[in-house]
Amino acid sequence: MNICPPMKYLFSLLFSLMIAAVTALAAHTPKINIVYPRKKQVVKAAEKTFIFGHVSPAQGVLTINGQKVKIHPSGGFLATLPVKPGIFIFDCKLVLSDGSSARLKHPIQIPFPRRKRTTQLPMIETTDLYPDTSLGVLPGEEVFFKCKTMPDKKVVCRIGDIQTFSLYEQEKKKGVRGIYQATKSFDGPFYQNSITFLVTDDSRIKPLLLPVTLTVLPLPEYPVVEVLQDKCKARFKPNGGYDTFLEKGSLLKCTGFMGKWLRCALSRNHPVYVERKLVTDKIKGKKIFSKFLGNLSVSEKEDRLLIKIATDRNLNHSWIEYPDTNKLGIKFFKVTTNIDRMVPQVNVSSLKDITWSQLEEDVALIDFYLNFSPQWGYSLDYKNTHAILTIRKTLEKKLPKEIIICLDAGHGGADLGAIGPTGKTEADMNLKQTLVVGKCLEEQGYQVIYTRKTNQTLPLDQRAPFAISSRADIFISIHHNAPADGCDPYLQRATETYYYNRSGKKLGQYLHPFLMKATGLKNGSLRFGNLAVCRHSGMASVLLEIDYLVIPEVEERVQKASFRTSVAQAICNGIDSYLNQR
Ligand SMILES: [Zn+2]
Repeated sequence: MNICPPMKYLFSLLFSLMIAAVTALAAHTPKINIVYPRKKQVVKAAEKTFIFGHVSPAQGVLTINGQKVKIHPSGGFLATLPVKPGIFIFDCKLVLSDGSSARLKHPIQIPFPRRKRTTQLPMIETTDLYPDTSLGVLPGEEVFFKCKTMPDKKVVCRIGDIQTFSLYEQEKKKGVRGIYQATKSFDGPFYQNSITFLVTDDSRIKPLLLPVTLTVLPLPEYPVVEVLQDKCKARFKPNGGYDTFLEKGSLLKCTGFMGKWLRCALSRNHPVYVERKLVTDKIKGKKIFSKFLGNLSVSEKEDRLLIKIATDRNLNHSWIEYPDTNKLGIKFFKVTTNIDRMVPQVNVSSLKDITWSQLEEDVALIDFYLNFSPQWGYSLDYKNTHAILTIRKTLEKKLPKEIIICLDAGHGGADLGAIGPTGKTEADMNLKQTLVVGKCLEEQGYQVIYTRKTNQTLPLDQRAPFAISSRADIFISIHHNAPADGCDPYLQRATETYYYNRSGKKLGQYLHPFLMKATGLKNGSLRFGNLAVCRHSGMASVLLEIDYLVIPEVEERVQKASFRTSVAQAICNGIDSYLNQR
């Protein structure tokens, strides 16, 4: 069919009108969007949890599971509602004044609580077994075994076809019976032997083969591993708290393992646990010789104290912050000192004395008695055949233009961080707030550097090293928070400042009250947090959680220029008062 040009225009016009009509209709079609929890997400909650998202248009009456939920001017909503285990459905209904409505059934999954045993057969509970991961131990080292079954049974453990021994039922605790335990040591060496528990009931024997193995390492042939990462975390126990950070390139004796965790000897009497992936594969036969701490000399600059110690590179060490004193210590592992001779000439005004001691045969401690409070940061670097310890004396005397402040907008790029009810991301809110803080600081004359100024992905472990290589004096990481599943965000809501080292704590003590005033929240605290961006001791570092982005009012206000300015002003005032302390 040949359509003449005027007709063609008419068709085109009609088509455009139709599109406009459909769009107009769509604009008024009520819609419910749930941001969190995601559809079919497993939410670890027992009795209640929170749900948030937004509706369009931002009006009408919203009910979820029959409970009325407030719609905020942005359309955002947040509710904390009761839940039940299994597939749980949030039934959401939005009704507008013109009678139009939307309904959304949003399923999530709540895990069932652990079920109680019902069977009368001598079943071994597979949830309460030890070892629960493959173990490597030294000859003669005690290994703990545990299993749970019916009371009054005979329980035996078999290690490969090498050894069989009994487990004994423990006296009942809190009415719980049927827990059998034993502690056993082995001569070894042997590799990856199977572990089987055998439960005897009415002459029937029920075996349970554990999916883990036992290895007894040969003595004295310890494997040696090399640390691959800087600031590698060494923990007190597998998955436990941080003990210290290991130097890249340092060698450690491996004295056992538990699953993915290697037990390494920081010194003879100080075991730590390190993840296998953070060290090289075993280097067989390589020995670790104790290093020697040699001559020590002290010099002083206007703003820092420098201590030079002749030694090898890659010494594992940990700093000791003695509370409420002007004393700072450093412990070196796998070293010996000639303490009869290591008399340093202390002739600098900011240092009263140095003491040193050989705590163990391979652990040395050096303590510095300072004439100033060691609150501005300290660090250790290596230069040729020397370890250089730097202790910052002051920042007070510096002009603002001489002070470098590193601002870190949390998350970014692929890492969105928390998300608000209308979909605003924490990464974006952090960046916008950070840029306003930076402007405020620059106006006061400070040098400001940024870990990121755009929406880019930036790994956590690259943020502090950037500040260090830029010789920053202060590091501030800016975040907005989200609560854990099962919480009520309104009850959790707080402004928090996290520090790791003494220098960060001091900065936090000045900064946090200003920040609390700006956010107007009563809930909040200055608290210790073992966070990657706060751990570096060379400068004062804090991480700020300004407010909870998942709350609709918060998502609305963090977008306001006036709020960003007042938070920025608070951070500037906090830094000012920190630097102007006397
Ligand atoms: Zn964050």
